[in-house]
Order: sequence, then C-alpha cells, then structure tokens
Amino acid sequence: MNLTDVHTIKALCREFGFGTKKKFGQNFITDEKVPDIISDTAKGMCALEIGPGLGTLTEALCRKCEKVVSVEIDTSLEKLLGLTVGNFTNLRVVFSDIMKTDIAALCKEEFTDRKVCVCANLPYYVTSPVLLRLMDCGFPFESITVMVQKEVADRLCAKPGTPEYGAITLTCQRYGRPVKLTDVPRTSFYPVPGVDSAVVSIISSGKENIFCKDEELLTKVIRASFNQRRKTLVNALYSGIGRKTKEEYAKLLVACGFSADVRGEKLSLSDFAKIVNNM
Ligand code: SAM
Repeated sequence: MNLTDVHTIKALCREFGFGTKKKFGQNFITDEKVPDIISDTAKGMCALEIGPGLGTLTEALCRKCEKVVSVEIDTSLEKLLGLTVGNFTNLRVVFSDIMKTDIAALCKEEFTDRKVCVCANLPYYVTSPVLLRLMDCGFPFESITVMVQKEVADRLCAKPGTPEYGAITLTCQRYGRPVKLTDVPRTSFYPVPGVDSAVVSIISSGKENIFCKDEELLTKVIRASFNQRRKTLVNALYSGIGRKTKEEYAKLLVACGFSADVRGEKLSLSDFAKIVNNM
C-alpha cells in the first residue's frame, strides 16, 4: 500500500470512517521522499515518533530502525494503524497526548540504553511547545528531526541579527546543531494546509562546545533579552534580571567586548555565555 498516494489515503479514510481533524493538525504527507529523508536520520538506531497519523513515516521508520515507539493523540486511528503498520513487530503505538507524556520515562522504559532519535511531522498547532518539551525532557536524543511550518524552521536555523533569530534559536543551539534538510511545499500534504513546511534536524553531537558557569542564569538572560527585543541589552537585563544597576551592566558588556548599547538579537550563544560567565 502506498500511503503517500492521495487516492489510497482517501480510500483508507472512507473504509475506516475516518475524517481528518483540524484540531489535531492532521495534514498527512503525500510526498514519498519526505518520510525517507526524515527516517534516514534514525537509520540503525531507535526512533520516537510523534503523531503517526496513517502510519506513513512510521512505516519508513520501522523498515530502518531497531525499534519504533509512536505516540498518537487520536484514538480513532487505532484500527486504521492496525491495518497499515500493525504487521511490524518492532513498533509500539502509544495512544497519548505528547504534551502530557513523561517523554524521558517512556524512552527509558522502551529503549533502555539504546540510541534514540526523534522523528516527526509535527502538528502545526503545537510545534514549539512539543519541541521545547523534547529538548527539556532530559533524555539524550541523538537527534530531533521534525517537519515544521517553514517560518518555524527559519527561526530554528536563524543567524544572529536577522528578524527570525530568537530565544528558540538559542534553545535549539544549546541542544545541538540545527540543519534544514529540505523545504516541503503545502501541496505535499493531504488535506493541503495554508502554510509551507520544512524539515529540520537538530543533531546533538554537532553542538557548539561552550562553557557556561550557570546554565539557569543563561536561560534567564536569553529569555530577558528576547522578551524585550527592542530594548538594549542593558535595559533588558536591568528589568528582566535585576541584580545590577544599568551602569554596572553597561560596564560588564564593554568588558566582554560589546558596545554598551548592543541588543541581544545581535549576540551568538557563546556571546551570551561570556556575559553570564562575567556576571
Ligand atoms: N506522521 C503523519 C504524516 O506524516 O503524514 C501525520 C502527521 S500530522 C501533521 C500530525 C499527527 O500528530 C496527527 O496524526 C495527529 O493526530 C497527531 N497529534 C496531534 N497532536 C498530538 C499530540 N498532542 N500528541 C500526540 N500526537 C498528536
């Protein structure tokens, strides 16, 4: 069965009385290259998939990975998934909301000490919270490869000084090295969504090696800088962190080699770490 074929998808939906649900961001992939590109990142390892849907990416993962665990919120897909991917003995489908799942506990239980990658065509309505949850959960994923709205992909891979650069870019860089693998036009989905997409892989081994003496403070400093993007970093730190006077912050920035009126959006992750190390 070719699950990327629109006629097959429609026939399956008819057979199982399944209607796609906008509230769960159900736009199924119809370009057969995309599941291949995403699943290649997990080849020979284990995969945690979020949102198997009809099982299109799941099937590609099951063929290439030792074990696959797919977390799906929509229980009405159970029978359909039984038909499309039920024959894979290395697959476990867990019906649960990924936002309420203890991801680290699930991965430890299912994969023990094996290497695990995250692979997903994420539902648009919950992309950033899911990504943040994956990066924050404490489980050491080899990589997190996700199809997201193109604008989100641009934010994840942005360079300092661009309008797309923000707190999520830096969160991503603290986790690994974000790389855009491919653009995916809206016409590659059924039903066709109102936005284009792209696949981004965040590779943990590619992470820039930076030293920061206080990771918690780094999180707060980054948050303060981008909460008030238009403010200079001195003003953002003064109102968001406190601890020092504006004059002291200005001196600190100059001592770190930046101008006193620099904005956070111009600084790289290692620049932020340098500031925190001197606070
Ligand atoms: N992987 C399939 C594909 O590529 O065609 C489906 C991708 S579709 C964009 C998103 C999938 O995530 C849907 O199956 C949807 O039901 C599921 N989903 C939505 N919200 C979820 C959540 N909070 N937890 C787990 N799965 C979710």
